[in-house]
Amino acid sequence: MQPDVKPGPELSVVVPIFNEAQNLRPLLDRLVPALEGCVQSFEIVFVNDGSRDDSVEILRKAHDRDPRLRLLSFSRNFGKEIAIAAGLDHADGAAVVIMDADLQHPPEMIPAFVEKWREGYQNVYGQRVDRSADTPLRRALTRRFYHIFGRIGETDLPEGAGDFRLLDAQAVAALRTMREHARFSKGLYAWIGFRSVGVPFEVGARAAGQSKFSYRKLVHFALDGIMSFTTAPLRIWTYAGLIVSAFAMAMASFYLLRTLIFGVDVPGYASLMVSLAFFSGVQLVSLGVLGEYVGRIFAEVKRRPLYLIEERIGLDARGDAVSVRRPADAAAPRPDVA
Ligand code: UDP
Ligand code: MG
Repeated sequence: MQPDVKPGPELSVVVPIFNEAQNLRPLLDRLVPALEGCVQSFEIVFVNDGSRDDSVEILRKAHDRDPRLRLLSFSRNFGKEIAIAAGLDHADGAAVVIMDADLQHPPEMIPAFVEKWREGYQNVYGQRVDRSADTPLRRALTRRFYHIFGRIGETDLPEGAGDFRLLDAQAVAALRTMREHARFSKGLYAWIGFRSVGVPFEVGARAAGQSKFSYRKLVHFALDGIMSFTTAPLRIWTYAGLIVSAFAMAMASFYLLRTLIFGVDVPGYASLMVSLAFFSGVQLVSLGVLGEYVGRIFAEVKRRPLYLIEERIGLDARGDAVSVRRPADAAAPRPDVA
């Protein structure tokens, strides 16, 4: 499948795509000149994450005109985090830039990233200076999430850092070894370390269309983030259990003494019911937290491939991606798994 090892381009750009047909032309019009101005050679690896619009057709034509534009098409929507992982698996550049397709990540920032890379930085992240492009509710929730993550997460996330960044080949190789399904890329970028530096940039408004992240998806993503990077939510219940038990012991001694001194008195139905309801609630919540972790363990132990590829345009199959090709009928395109 891979006859000779051809040298990769200087820079690869990975762009996850989910129904971005309207943004592709404007993106290419700005991205290609920006890249031509700062590197010798480049490729742009689009990862179609199960788009239902004509994104694929547009990119197919774009590849015919300019073979530096390549496409990886998933068999369905696997989510942005997985799309980034697939892009990193297939990017051959000496450095890789990850960016969104909606022009919220300005292509004109890439030369500044490349400059930092040439200075020797391996993990150059764009740092959002303001979040006014997001709705106030999303901003408030984001702030809350980072506050909680900062307190209980076991990895420090740099302020304002997101997916818009440049990683050198060594950092990319490190990320490729992480095959977890519940992917919280921001945490993984920080976890791998390497010489890192932030470059501030302004997030514009989305060029066309709407954010692909509903609040439900964001909450799920936030839970994935926290649970992938700390077991503190599990530990809380150990402490809560100890405190409640200590309280119950104190209460027991109090009632014992009172009964010995003043005799039995029956009333107390209300306080009994209230504490019963309260502690059943506490137990259910702690079971729920346990369940969340068990569910994630279940998802990981199944060891399913991270994604299924329906089609590759301008890209070879990867050696590190598990392949389920049947050599007998090579003519029909079949999904690849990784
Ligand atoms: N995206 C994706 N799969 C998804 C959702 C989003 O590949 O399931 C892509 C999307 O096409 C865009 C990027 O991820 O290129 C960021 O998405 P979006 O702009 O909707 O997110 P936001 O800017 O609101 O965080
Ligand atoms: Mg966006």
